[in-house]
Amino acid sequence: MIGSPQMDFLHKTCDWARSGFKGVEHQSHIIGMPTNTLIPEEDPYGPGGRLSHSSRWGHSLCPRAWFYEREWGWKGEALPILVFGHAVEECVCRVLRENPALVSANAVSEVFDSPTRELGAYWRRRDRLNTIIDQRPEAAWNGPLLIPMGETYGDIESIMAWADARIAVHWPRAIASAHESWLADANRSGDWEEFMNARGHQGPQLAAAGIELHLEEVAQCLAAGGGAGLMDFRAGRRPDIPAPDGFPATHDQTHPCAKGEGEVSLLEAWELARPWFVDPEAGTFTQQAILPEGWFQGEYDLVYRWDGTSRIVDIKASDGRSEWAASYPVQMQTYAWLWWASHGKDEEVTGLETWYLGDGSRKVYPPPNTDEMQQFEDELHDFWEQHIATKGRRDIADYPPQPATVPSFAPGGGEQVGETDSSERCRQCYWAGECEGSGRKVDHDGATEFVDHDGSSHPLNNVSELIPRITVEGRIGTWKPNPWRFGGIAPALSLFTGGGSLWCSPYKGGPLAVADGIGGGTSVRIEGGYLAPTRNGGVQLKLDEHTTISAIEEDEFEGHQSPTALHRANIRGRVMSLSRGEGETNWGKWKRWGAELATADGPIEISAMSENIPFAHDEVKRDDEVAVIAGYATAFGDKKQLSFDAETVLRIL
Ligand code: SF4
Repeated sequence: MIGSPQMDFLHKTCDWARSGFKGVEHQSHIIGMPTNTLIPEEDPYGPGGRLSHSSRWGHSLCPRAWFYEREWGWKGEALPILVFGHAVEECVCRVLRENPALVSANAVSEVFDSPTRELGAYWRRRDRLNTIIDQRPEAAWNGPLLIPMGETYGDIESIMAWADARIAVHWPRAIASAHESWLADANRSGDWEEFMNARGHQGPQLAAAGIELHLEEVAQCLAAGGGAGLMDFRAGRRPDIPAPDGFPATHDQTHPCAKGEGEVSLLEAWELARPWFVDPEAGTFTQQAILPEGWFQGEYDLVYRWDGTSRIVDIKASDGRSEWAASYPVQMQTYAWLWWASHGKDEEVTGLETWYLGDGSRKVYPPPNTDEMQQFEDELHDFWEQHIATKGRRDIADYPPQPATVPSFAPGGGEQVGETDSSERCRQCYWAGECEGSGRKVDHDGATEFVDHDGSSHPLNNVSELIPRITVEGRIGTWKPNPWRFGGIAPALSLFTGGGSLWCSPYKGGPLAVADGIGGGTSVRIEGGYLAPTRNGGVQLKLDEHTTISAIEEDEFEGHQSPTALHRANIRGRVMSLSRGEGETNWGKWKRWGAELATADGPIEISAMSENIPFAHDEVKRDDEVAVIAGYATAFGDKKQLSFDAETVLRIL
């Protein structure tokens, strides 16, 4: 298969993932590649257009809940337990990355941190800034600077003692970072202190259970004489995508713990057995495994490769008794298929395991055969076509309220020991107040006007009346074919229309394509633009990847009128979830606050940027009833939005 089109493609995608060291010769033969990034030009759907295991599984739990979350963007509560699991995994990975001979038991947590850099990633006409591991030779890697200490590690127990000390160093950092991200989540819920007292304090024990399971691998690697990678390791040759170990991927010197010859040592086995995992310093979603065709993505926790094959392990900061245990066999089957399908259907994993750190157990699954994986792929692709490729066009009628029952399992994801009625799922569901299947639907107030506390009355609009995207026609005056930094143009233009002049500017890269020949003086029809205020209070048309610009003849004008003002509306609704963000552009820092509202006739997102964020936003809670007066109708992607400017007022009812 080496040299085949599929493997060439895989190399290209992996080269892109290693973009920090383009041009460097690969040092060893191809073995499992656990992460890749698609070349933007060959990424037809982008991050939001891919299927994942959690999405597929979520649909089976209740199609209606899935619809609310995936189509309407409602977000569930962010409970401490969700970030706790990440902290445990981070702690395990930080220890795995280190070496007992290079990092002393009491060294600071940051001693083996991988250097990072910011890299703009893009797909279609969208982009974002990713934090990636800096593989450039000049980056500040600590591994090559460290000299092995004198300590000897004669047995597994002495390494475990070192690992326990490292966990004690890394855990406070990992849980502090988890706490920070919980605090920053607009939908956070629960009591952090209470959670930490009840369960969170067990983090170090869970991490230790993970390391103990890993040490079983180290012991096996030692017993096997070092496994398939010993010769390469001693010669300073590294896999194409090495496990994070404090050294750059391009490092071509022999590891300081490598012996010249003889039996493999325990420290060598520690190095050799190390699985690949997502580097704790890598930004979110930057070390995914993406199907070369671009419609699926996943992220492996641990990929063991020391025996010359690839085995995938998923770690769970639980004891495997909850209903999620039902999804894990499917998750592992998904990983087996993803590995096979993204390795030219030429390389299969040889092992699949879930590690339940809550009771220190491994659950081992037999890998599916190729027929099963092909069938699985066909089913997943059908699902993707039906439910993911249709994003923005899904019909709620296709997503009935059909809650699944709630099973429970013996520890370690063992036998099913219980199953509640499906009404239990509705009882716990965030969306019960909106869902006709819950038996607890709360009707919306049928008010047609909102009376403010100063006595002023405001007629309320229906969401269905709002027109987020519009069509305009006219002749281009000023034409600015600004280059977009990732290629092509992001045009800005003034359009002379029947109603006057309208400034049109791109959002990010602007329209997907602009035909040759369009420029100053061309008559055009612009479809799918959305209105936004200008800095001086005027109105402009924004052009994004949902917008098209086509040249038209004079006799093809259809009479679309140019707007002279923003389309204002007053909306009353129930807050289903909240959102918040911040960032920086060439024009300075920005902040965003928003909420997903359910109204009597459909959902809408409300959104405010920086100085337009209303004073009362901090008071808004999930389930609050709010009124937005004089917002302006606009769009964000495939969503209908009511945005805030200086005229807009928010009231909590
Ligand atoms: S209330 Fe029940 S039926 Fe409705 S979305 Fe939630 S789980 Fe599904």
